[in-house]
Amino acid sequence: AMRESYSSENDAGFKTIKPTAGDIVVVGGRGKLGALFVKMFRLSGYKVLVLGRDDWHRAEELVGNASLVVVSVPIDRTVETIERLPKLPADCTLADLTSVKQPAMKAMLASHNGPVVGLHPMFGPDIASFAKQVIIFCEGRSSEQYSWVLEQMKLWGSNLVESNGQEHDETMSLVQALRHFTSFAYGMHLQSENADLKRLLAFSSPIYRLELAMVGRLFAQDPELYVEIITAAPENVKMFKRYLSNFGEALELLEQGDSDAFVKRFREVSDWFGHFATQFQAESRDLLLAAHDRVTH
Ligand code: NAD
Repeated sequence: AMRESYSSENDAGFKTIKPTAGDIVVVGGRGKLGALFVKMFRLSGYKVLVLGRDDWHRAEELVGNASLVVVSVPIDRTVETIERLPKLPADCTLADLTSVKQPAMKAMLASHNGPVVGLHPMFGPDIASFAKQVIIFCEGRSSEQYSWVLEQMKLWGSNLVESNGQEHDETMSLVQALRHFTSFAYGMHLQSENADLKRLLAFSSPIYRLELAMVGRLFAQDPELYVEIITAAPENVKMFKRYLSNFGEALELLEQGDSDAFVKRFREVSDWFGHFATQFQAESRDLLLAAHDRVTH
């Protein structure tokens, strides 16, 4: 039913969860992710204003009737941008879309006394729809006053998952930083081996194409964003070193020709993955089936 309402309402627009809302102001709304949210809020019947880099001289006017201000500027400008905001209406919700949550949460709570919510869309601006896309949200203050924002995003089809700044940032180390870093290293390796990507693709069945795509898509995007995500937490580099040491350990088993030890280690990891291993196998099969259906029907 969710999918149906999604695809049928996509062109005509979405139901407005809070018709009495004032303006929605997106700071950085001409950027990649900001523009996507500007579009979605407009499609949902809200009046949306953009506060861009050159609009600070009229910032007070822009936020004067705001019910929601969303900050979507480059990560390293986020805190200073939040601090620079003029006084917001008391009942206005202040939110951000930044990939690193603790500094933004702290700055938002300090600079605004009204409702605050941190958001992290776990996707980039290239998504075809919001259906099933994960958005992490971190409670700042007065959730009863910003719940309409979450409800609106649920109506777009997204999957809202609650966290707090600390858990979010720690989990992101493994969900994003490690993943992007290993994709980067993989890509670097393909380059230095001078791999023939065309032939690699030709030799790849769907599951291997998917893996190649996961790596290759990184290089279609902004290096700045990935540097920020990869280096977001100072502990990330230490964690990458532990990864490297596991890599080295596995390599040593191979170098020693110790396939028994390798198999033993493999089984230990399998046991640790437990039922998730078979779940992941089924999930990847279903994903590929769904992708195949989309291409052929
Ligand atoms: P972007 O560079 O495309 O957009 C940033 C926008 O902010 C630009 O339009 C820029 O002109 C504007 N800007 C810069 N300084 C400003 C200022 N002082 N005042 C007002 N506007 C200013 O970046 P993006 O990829 O859209 O990322 C924006 C935010 O979204 C970041 O916090 C990032 O962590 C987050 N995010 C991005 C992605 C992604 O895949 N792109 C995914 C999840 C979260």
